[in-house]
Amino acid sequence: MSVLDEFALDGDTAIVTGASRGIGRALAGALAEAGANLCLVSRTADDGRTAAAEIEAETGVDAIAVPADVTEENDVEAMVDETLATFGSIDVLVNNAGIARTAPAHEMSLETWNEVIATNLTGVFLCTKHAGKAMIDGDGGTVINMASMSAFVANYPQEEVVYHASKGGVVSFTRQLASEWARYDIRANAIAPGYIRTEMIDELLAENPDMEEAWLSEMLMDEMAPPGDLGGTVVYLASDASSYMTGETVVIDGGYTVR
Ligand code: NDP
Repeated sequence: MSVLDEFALDGDTAIVTGASRGIGRALAGALAEAGANLCLVSRTADDGRTAAAEIEAETGVDAIAVPADVTEENDVEAMVDETLATFGSIDVLVNNAGIARTAPAHEMSLETWNEVIATNLTGVFLCTKHAGKAMIDGDGGTVINMASMSAFVANYPQEEVVYHASKGGVVSFTRQLASEWARYDIRANAIAPGYIRTEMIDELLAENPDMEEAWLSEMLMDEMAPPGDLGGTVVYLASDASSYMTGETVVIDGGYTVR
């Protein structure tokens, strides 16, 4: 087998949450290019359907869009059931759905705190729980969680302790899950990006455009990356190319955290 064959996902089924736009859309496209059939998850049904149709046209894989809120256990169960009914198994779960909210810690409402933790951390747990059951009952699989460099460094100048707490939780969750599920032939890894140009970033910059200069000054690469720059890593983590890797978090941040 050539080394490139190890990256093939032909016939595998991958669930990608937050796949209607931004990073999730790019990761879904990359997994499809490697051959995986897809379940694309987002709350907005139309956006998910559009992304699924585009990916089918571009790559020839089968893609379904299932509207679901990752914070709602009933939605997540129904999404997993629909994926199994359509494709018969789940091989890859990419827990990508996430939100960012800024507020000084002493002024942040409990509502905002709970919203971010529910989406970024509880959502990861719920999708892992239900898709993981299918992997355990099947032939194992891989779980890939979207963390952030914010799990490892303080961001500046935005104030967002809850985002950092949630992403630190994702890294820790990933490590422990890898330990508990190795016995089921399930690997778990995470990706920790730096600044990737998406709607999430555009919304933050709309609050304070001066932030961009502060961010760029910390990056060795001098620019934010497009979402597609994460595609190679998700295919690597989903495939046999990373078969001896579990519990790890891959930082992809243009050198932001180097110094
Ligand atoms: P976007 O805001 O561009 O996209 C977010 C996606 O998640 C959308 O598809 C959205 O669809 C979906 N989503 C949000 N909430 C839920 C929910 N409760 N249930 C289901 N789907 C949901 O964000 P990005 O692409 O920038 O971010 C994706 C991930 O990458 C996040 O986890 C983020 O924290 C992480 N990240 C991003 C970085 C960046 O610089 N952009 C850096 C580091 C990490 P809908 O609204 O229709 O539900």
